[in-house]
Amino acid sequence: MNPKYPVQLVPPDIAAYRKGNTGIDYVTTFDSGRPGPHVMVCAVTHGNELCGAIVVDFLFREQVRPTAGKLTLAFNNYRAFLTFDPRYPGLSRYVDEDFNRLWSPEVLDSARDSDELRRAREMRPFIETVDLLLDLHSMQTKAPALMLAGPLEKGRLLAAAVGVPEYVVSDVGHAAGKRMRDYGAFGDPASDKNALLVECGQHWEKASADVAMQTTLRFLKHCGTVDPGFLDAHIAGDPPPQKFITVTGPITIKHDEFHFVQEFDGMEVIPKAGTVIAHDGDEPIRTPYDDCVLIMPSRRMAAGQTAVRLGRFTHR
Ligand SMILES: [Zn+2]
Repeated sequence: MNPKYPVQLVPPDIAAYRKGNTGIDYVTTFDSGRPGPHVMVCAVTHGNELCGAIVVDFLFREQVRPTAGKLTLAFNNYRAFLTFDPRYPGLSRYVDEDFNRLWSPEVLDSARDSDELRRAREMRPFIETVDLLLDLHSMQTKAPALMLAGPLEKGRLLAAAVGVPEYVVSDVGHAAGKRMRDYGAFGDPASDKNALLVECGQHWEKASADVAMQTTLRFLKHCGTVDPGFLDAHIAGDPPPQKFITVTGPITIKHDEFHFVQEFDGMEVIPKAGTVIAHDGDEPIRTPYDDCVLIMPSRRMAAGQTAVRLGRFTHR
């Protein structure tokens, strides 16, 4: 039990969604029979992130169906999620490795094997049929929610069309491997296919489920394939204007002795260029420019992993 982040959310019972109708466990597609995009909302890419599971369960229970195109609801790393134990809430992130670092042909086609690679290979041909993807995530620390829109203009435009959350981060991902949101056509500027990854707040805080819900409803509304009456009945509030941040690079850990100079939660703005924010072995890590934004500092400090990403405010 982590007293700093009590588990306020209850993971839903998802057993009823195992069989689905796609031949892939925990992947269900509803087909309107009419032309339109294939829209997908997915949860538990990381098994310890509860907000997405709560929202996907809600969409199932409300029997949300597309009026055009197809709607897929999925629980990605369900095997990790099913091991979630509120006494040890951090332990269910994955079975063998991070599911969201495997999404390049080099890794998927490699001879390597793991529980997550088997799941990614099982889902890969299906993911290639998706036109618009929303992948629901949460964060280790209590920081403002943010949309990870990817490196392309089309991702930023989609994030702007969804309109929430307030912070939109444009980034290329992690040195440790590619994310599902960047896979194949999602990462091709010439393709109309598009994907978003939203970080809804701290993994177990109640507010993260509200952020995931509002982001999903507004995403579905933008996609235009679900009855807007249902969506409008559940969409709340008037969101503030969005702020766009471009990640200039990840700080990838080189040595096993890495520590920040203070505890950062994320979205802190460091005013002066050259400020030391961490030490990687003997090497000081300095901010490269004024008003540097710290994005998603990690608590998992191992060589090769991302410690934090640095960003600057931009116009969209
Ligand atoms: Zn995640």
